[in-house]
Amino acid sequence: MLTDLTIAEARDGLRAGRFSAVDLTMAHLLAIEALNPRLNAFITVSHSKALAQAQAADAALAKGEHGALTGIPLAIKDLFCTEGVRTTAGSRILEPFVPPYESTVTANLLRDGAVFLGKANLDEFAMGSSNMTSAFGPVENPWKRLRDPDAVLVPGGSSGGSAAAVAARMAMGATGTDTGGSIRQPAAFCGLVGVKPSYGRCSRWGVVAFASSLDHPGPFARTVQDSAIMLGSMAGFDPKDSTSAERPVPDYEAACKRGVKGLRIGVPREYLADGMPAEIEALWQQGLTWLREAGAEIVDVSLPHTQYGLATYYIVAPAEASSNLARYDGVRFGLRKDGGELAEMYGNTRAAGFGPEVRRRIMIGTYVLSAGYYDAYYLRAQKIRALILRDFNDVFSQVDALLTPTAPNAAFAQGENMDDPIKMYLNDVFTVGANLAGVPAISVPAGLDANGLPLGLQIIGRPFDEETVFAVSAEIERAAGFTALPQIRAGQ
Ligand code: GLN
Repeated sequence: MLTDLTIAEARDGLRAGRFSAVDLTMAHLLAIEALNPRLNAFITVSHSKALAQAQAADAALAKGEHGALTGIPLAIKDLFCTEGVRTTAGSRILEPFVPPYESTVTANLLRDGAVFLGKANLDEFAMGSSNMTSAFGPVENPWKRLRDPDAVLVPGGSSGGSAAAVAARMAMGATGTDTGGSIRQPAAFCGLVGVKPSYGRCSRWGVVAFASSLDHPGPFARTVQDSAIMLGSMAGFDPKDSTSAERPVPDYEAACKRGVKGLRIGVPREYLADGMPAEIEALWQQGLTWLREAGAEIVDVSLPHTQYGLATYYIVAPAEASSNLARYDGVRFGLRKDGGELAEMYGNTRAAGFGPEVRRRIMIGTYVLSAGYYDAYYLRAQKIRALILRDFNDVFSQVDALLTPTAPNAAFAQGENMDDPIKMYLNDVFTVGANLAGVPAISVPAGLDANGLPLGLQIIGRPFDEETVFAVSAEIERAAGFTALPQIRAGQ
């Protein structure tokens, strides 16, 4: 089936003329037609645009002109502005918003010939770990529990639609954004590879802002090599983003073949959280054994401020969000609900446009930034963030990369963890550190839990050393031999 190919296989098949880009795109559009009414992974499907892009890809291939992704059908998280295609951020407040411009990351993908199938569902403004906060409804994870097959599981969040689309073979790859784990955690829940590159590697220009100092665009794919191909296309300096890094983009695909011989891999002892399920700890140990057998040296290390990561994140992220979301006032973008005078119109618009989780974050954010509490919360969180960054710097003078679990649990059911926001926030315990420090991290599917659900291992590296992270990820992927498939997928 065309929908089962990897990006690398499809790329070779297209270049060899074994099938056309239109065939490949049609196969994915049909899969979306069959599966999306149930999974709800796409908010918007752009049939005609996708077919036009596929025809252009075929014309380019016929002339022997191809980019890294010519004719490859992708899903785009609905947080990336796409010119002429509605971009909602999963929120009522942007429901009618059609951007007049293209984000840099999606423009880079189009430059390299990619086909965009549509816009993927997400938690509202990327705030969440379950895709349950989307104004366009929840996404169903295509994986099922062996012992409770009727339970509807979440795909993780916030990039839940991107992950479900790739896992169910509705797209070959997808873009996501990761502010505290939103690429890696859904990748782990859906049995995919998810890459959060270094801060500054992928431009944030044209990506709807959540927390600007923590937001990282990155790819989802079914293999490490595919994610490397995608990142190579998405990454690069962008003068329109003042935090974009002016560095050449290395050959990530080549880096996947480097092996791990002689690398030093750190095991941060603070990640052995109380109450970590035994099977996740066992998988972590298994991952270390795989790397040792492949010639790496395993070293115990310490990231002493790990325990403050979540608290720091849940001050800094809402603070930045409350400031970023001030722009949705009914005047410039999207929804407007009229009122007697201006302030009333603002209030009516924001009350009608934002869901409960977004309102909670705006309230936390304005509270920690308010004159009386700024020093006690925001300033203190910034200081601890600096210590967390120093922990990573110290550790990377001893080791080349770290290995940890991606999440403290496998996918949970819709409705679970919903009674208490703190329970939901705990899902990010292993992922937020890399966002606070800006270092690259990849989640790789490494095994199944006792209930048949995928579990991920996370590899964290030095700033801008994605190449080593890809090399270690590829080794884990090879050793794990993860071939399990979700129950709900194209052709089933
Ligand atoms: N789950 C985290 C949050 O709710 C991370 C979200 C993200 O990375 N966008 O903020």
